[in-house]
Amino acid sequence: MNRLRTRLILAFLAATILPFAATVWITTSLLDRSLGYATTGELDRLSRTLETTVRQFYQREREALKQDVDAGRAVPVKYADADLAAWPPDVRAFRDSGEAERFGLSGANGDHLDYMRRFDSGAGAMGGVEAYRRDLRGVQMGQLTAQLRETRRLVESIESRDLRRGFTLTLLLLLAAAWIASLAPLIYIAHRISQPIQQLTAGLTGFADGDWSRRLDTGRSAGSAPRDEVGRAVDAFNRMADQLQQSRERLVHLTRMASWQSLARKTAHELKNSLTPIRLTVEEMQARQPATDRAFMDQAVQIVVSEIESLERRVRAFSEFASEPPVNPEVLDVNALVQERVALLRPAHPDTTFSLRLDRATPLVLAGADLIRGILTNLLQNAAEAAGAGGTVIAITRRDGDQAAIEVHDSGPGLSAEARATLFEPTITFKKHGMGLGLSIAKSHALLSGGDITLVPGELGGAAFRVTLPSAALARAEAAS
Ligand code: ADP
Repeated sequence: MNRLRTRLILAFLAATILPFAATVWITTSLLDRSLGYATTGELDRLSRTLETTVRQFYQREREALKQDVDAGRAVPVKYADADLAAWPPDVRAFRDSGEAERFGLSGANGDHLDYMRRFDSGAGAMGGVEAYRRDLRGVQMGQLTAQLRETRRLVESIESRDLRRGFTLTLLLLLAAAWIASLAPLIYIAHRISQPIQQLTAGLTGFADGDWSRRLDTGRSAGSAPRDEVGRAVDAFNRMADQLQQSRERLVHLTRMASWQSLARKTAHELKNSLTPIRLTVEEMQARQPATDRAFMDQAVQIVVSEIESLERRVRAFSEFASEPPVNPEVLDVNALVQERVALLRPAHPDTTFSLRLDRATPLVLAGADLIRGILTNLLQNAAEAAGAGGTVIAITRRDGDQAAIEVHDSGPGLSAEARATLFEPTITFKKHGMGLGLSIAKSHALLSGGDITLVPGELGGAAFRVTLPSAALARAEAAS
């Protein structure tokens, strides 16, 4: 489980939940207050009072008009049944309704009160309708009633909508949307940060459990600089793992070499102890042999002595292998060393072509000159032997990061799978040339110089070896730190 990512998300939620709640609370209470100040309530009360007042005023005017009519103070407009066709439509509508009397508003914006009633002009005579009119003295009842109705409609529509709930809901929705919008990038960033850390933890745990080959994905193209601290930590882990693995491999090789050397030293000692008396005894036997029987004896002694000499050569090689060479580091120009070694080998292999590809940018190295000479001689000698007459050997030098690299390629048959498997390990062969110790000695000398020897793909179809040596500047800087 990605605990770091979960923690980052929880931290975000914890950090934002309080301001979120505070914003909702402050905004809704402000909303409450502003709604409290709203004029809707006032408008409601005012419109109701006005409505009552208008109704009372209308009622009073009606009563006043009626009193005037009853007291004969008002003059009617009379509509006799005989002229029915000429009546205005409202008067005719009143007559047809069968009502005894009717009040109504008339005039522009309803500023007059009308009163209609029936009359009867005596027995047998025709009746009609009397219409009275009263000026409301500027009070525009019609307009007032329309405005009051509109105000009531407005108040009722505002009251029917729950503004507080609507505003609160909108606010909550907006805040939640903003919250979720900021949570999404946070989850992405948390994932980006936590994934390499998780990898790093897994890598370190694996390392602690002995899995030294594990490297972490830096998630960027090779050679480009890391983007952030996490990227730098991943890079540092990979570098540290590389260095530790290299150091361990060197240590393993040097330790094995040390035990082989100790074995070689003892074997050389024992062999030398036995070979000397054998040689002396055989020579004594030859001297004591009568002259008549010497021919066979001379031949036998020659064979034995030659075998003893061969064994002694091997004993010397063993002693050499067992000896720890003195390391006197000095600043060396590998180009000059390669040139010198090739010049020395050329006469011994006149039918082999030696070519050089020396790069002037190759840094100077700090190493023991004799060790490096030994390494180069061994590689060049092996290459020349493998290439044979008519073959080619190329020696290349170049800068390889902070190191100097020397490569030796040959056009020989290359290395068999068997030879590759134990190439840098000492093997004892009884071939005419070589003991099978050269490459293992060269490898330890390279390791003692802070460098290494590895196999690389050959340019000429045969074997190829690369020697790397730390540059003098880097070796000095490391020694100083
Ligand atoms: P030796 O003293 O026998 O040369 P080395 O350790 O130098 O011992 O080499 C070990 C063996 O590796 C050699 O015997 C040879 O079989 C093989 N070898 C080394 N270099 C080359 C090469 N350039 N091409 C083919 N085989 C090689």
